[in-house]
Amino acid sequence: MSKDLLIRAVAADATIRCMAAVTTSLVDQACQRHNTLPTASAALGRALTGTLMMGSLLKDLEKITVKFDCQGPIGNITSEADAYGNVRGYVRNPQVDLPVNEKGKLDVGGAVGTGMLYVIRDIGFEIGLSRDPYYGSVPIISGEIAMDLAYYFTKSEQIPSDVSLGVFVSPEGQITASGGFIIQVMPGADEKLIEEISNNIVNTPPSTTMIREGFSPEDMLYKALGHIDFEVLETRPIQFRCTCSHKRALSLITALGKTEVADMLEKDVGAKLTCHFCSETYLVTAGELEKILDDFPAQED
Ligand code: ZN
Repeated sequence: MSKDLLIRAVAADATIRCMAAVTTSLVDQACQRHNTLPTASAALGRALTGTLMMGSLLKDLEKITVKFDCQGPIGNITSEADAYGNVRGYVRNPQVDLPVNEKGKLDVGGAVGTGMLYVIRDIGFEIGLSRDPYYGSVPIISGEIAMDLAYYFTKSEQIPSDVSLGVFVSPEGQITASGGFIIQVMPGADEKLIEEISNNIVNTPPSTTMIREGFSPEDMLYKALGHIDFEVLETRPIQFRCTCSHKRALSLITALGKTEVADMLEKDVGAKLTCHFCSETYLVTAGELEKILDDFPAQED
């Protein structure tokens, strides 16, 4: 199995921008963490893969959040990537599993349904450096994730894009292939070239088929671009990684305030916090709650 990897490339004097990724291991890890059923696994995996590729254009402290705010049974999908190949994300209802659609594929569109797709790019928000974040939003047009991201690029960023995303779930529920590619037409691109690429993409096998055959991200671009030469600008490892920690759990509890912490100590002896993004559970002991209480400055009423 190819290891998780992302590449960023350009073709035709940078008038064509491309990204491709194999995300099998990280999506499998995400699905195990969130205990997702197949349809939810495919939705989450596609969103994580798309967000990672979008994240490859970020600089240093920037972060990108892709959020499907939807009416379907999955509730919503939130996925976040940084500039270093780290991604984390979750779906509200991981136990969504629908019958396969008329094409015999996992019915991600049915799980997502209608709603809005939001893309938020911000800079160093968590360390207080936030300048104006960038917001873009479009209605969800298919719920299949790839087509929605393509629509977002075209409508909101005015960059016509072709997005292919796929997740293959084995009968045992394991992710055995996941990944995809994005091909974007930048201003100044040659019309004939655009047509050639479009025709080629139509004949490109689904990402999961290519990945199951052992294709690397570069191999996928060779297939999608046909005879067009491209230059790989960057190859980076990618992983599922969350920013939560025991220390962060303690500061979240501290932020609740003295009364709430005292209440927790009295009623529940300790506290249990579960991170939405990665499902990691943090146990905060009674001793730690007492320490938090002791550290609050004395207040006058
Ligand atoms: Zn976490």
